[in-house]
Amino acid sequence: MYSPAIDKLILALKKLPGVGRQTAERYVFHFLKSGKKEVAELTLALKDLMTTTQSCQICWNFSDQNPCARCSQPKRNQAIICVVAEPQDLAVIEATQAHQGSYHVLRGLIDASDEESVLKTKIADLLARCQINTRIKISEVILALNPNLAGETTMLYLEKKLREQNLTLKITRLARGLPLGSDIRYADELTLLSAIKNRT
Ligand SMILES: [Zn+2]
Repeated sequence: MYSPAIDKLILALKKLPGVGRQTAERYVFHFLKSGKKEVAELTLALKDLMTTTQSCQICWNFSDQNPCARCSQPKRNQAIICVVAEPQDLAVIEATQAHQGSYHVLRGLIDASDEESVLKTKIADLLARCQINTRIKISEVILALNPNLAGETTMLYLEKKLREQNLTLKITRLARGLPLGSDIRYADELTLLSAIKNRT
């Protein structure tokens, strides 16, 4: 129905999370109407993003350096790892300033109906970080995942696996206070702060 170039961009945008065909079409026609300057800015921002951002090979957050500034900071307590699902969760926890340790971004959660889903996350890297004979001895792992089905499934799996390889490791969860099924990304800062401080 549209020209091949328009169709091609619609297809590419449709792959973004939360973007359906209609939204993708709206974006494409917005670009075409908005003129070259706005599109050039977006192109440059995307190019910058891909050339300057890398994965921290310790915590798997995205950063402009590897290891990231947080993982290479001696002042932070590298022995305590706060495990989060996505980089945005790390950002909201960091904003509370309640956690002065290290992080691990899983980049996804376990889907109970998909056995392979464990492999799509950074769970193996977390287990490797928490082994007994590593350079930085981990004393505590805080599981800061959403209290929903995928979050619970992942926390149970992690507790079992971490316990199997290290009997003395302290494994905690955020305190109840976050409503069941909620998303820590949208919790208010005070609720989240107390959930971290009163973790059990
Ligand atoms: Zn890092």
